Amino acid sequence: MQSKGGNNRQPVGQPLHKVIMVGTGGVGKSALTLQFMYQEFVEDYEPTKADSYRKKLMLDNEEVQIDILDTAGQEDYAAIRDNYFRTGEGFLCVFSITEHESFAATHEFREQILRVKGDDNNIPFILVGNKSDLEEKRRVSRHEALQLADAWRVPYVETSAKTKLNVEEVFKELMRHVQKRKLADGEASNGPKKTGRRKKRKCVIL
Ligand code: GDP
Ligand code: MG
Repeated sequence: MQSKGGNNRQPVGQPLHKVIMVGTGGVGKSALTLQFMYQEFVEDYEPTKADSYRKKLMLDNEEVQIDILDTAGQEDYAAIRDNYFRTGEGFLCVFSITEHESFAATHEFREQILRVKGDDNNIPFILVGNKSDLEEKRRVSRHEALQLADAWRVPYVETSAKTKLNVEEVFKELMRHVQKRKLADGEASNGPKKTGRRKKRKCVIL
């Protein structure tokens, strides 16, 4: 798997946020990723192809880099999936508002992620209802999705990779959560030990 998006060297001190796209096949993970990366709607991206992408962008007046891993079914192999999830700092859990099964499947993704992340409920995670342009084919109500998101205490955002609705916003919102989380972790690791299990101390370059 090759990383796309040009120069992959990370300047010292520049934040790099690792985001993972999860969800069942056909919900628009690749379309969202490619819309965010290249501002184009790709209708026929190879469904079995997982890829990673990197891009520099401005996030609240700071230059940051995002690393997006667009998964594509290989996650069925538990070892590969867990490895992917372990490296992820933030997750976009995507379903299609036109397919109820894809919504039901988000439970499983959430569980798998939490398991790998040691049942950390505060992991940066957004529930994404994609294909919002297909309102006439809607099978998952906004209410139902919001209820689930509330239960998980995560945001719910409806997007359209086709019309670009909320695409940039959802990636940026997730990155803000990741950034906040890293700050909190950094502070926690300098403070008193709270739990038995101690997180690996990270090297922070100021
Ligand atoms: P993935 O398997 O989750 O990566 O899904 P893809 O990104 O390959 O998308 C599956 C199909 O849904 C493709 O035909 C896309 O063109 C279509 N699609 C993806 N996002 C949208 C969207 O927001 N609106 C509409 N109308 N179609 C979409
Ligand atoms: Mg795909």
